[in-house]
Amino acid sequence: MSLFDLILQNASYGKLVTSFCVNCNKYMWPPNYICNCCNSKTSLRKIKRVGILLEKTQSNILGREGTFGIGEFGGIRLIGTIKEDVRIGEVIRIHEIGIKNGRLDIKFTILSS
Ligand SMILES: [Zn+2]
Repeated sequence: MSLFDLILQNASYGKLVTSFCVNCNKYMWPPNYICNCCNSKTSLRKIKRVGILLEKTQSNILGREGTFGIGEFGGIRLIGTIKEDVRIGEVIRIHEIGIKNGRLDIKFTILSS
């Protein structure tokens, strides 16, 4: 089973994981078996669910319309759908993880205070 298949399998249980290097104390996205800093073997670890919205844009690509954001979670950047009214710089959380057409489908929401 490939690394990405393992990540999809975890996602199917609602758990979002990626490679983590214990030596560098660093998450990696895209995932990799080997750390891109120190060449140590990595292991899978749960991604932090709370992050910051860095960017937001509107997609008009057929079948993928909607508002998408780039969020930073523990040092890695992920793409997910987000409501239009969330502003850049706001604290967001990974609300839902799914699989759509064999790909990760992540939904962000604003972190309610
Ligand atoms: Zn490392």
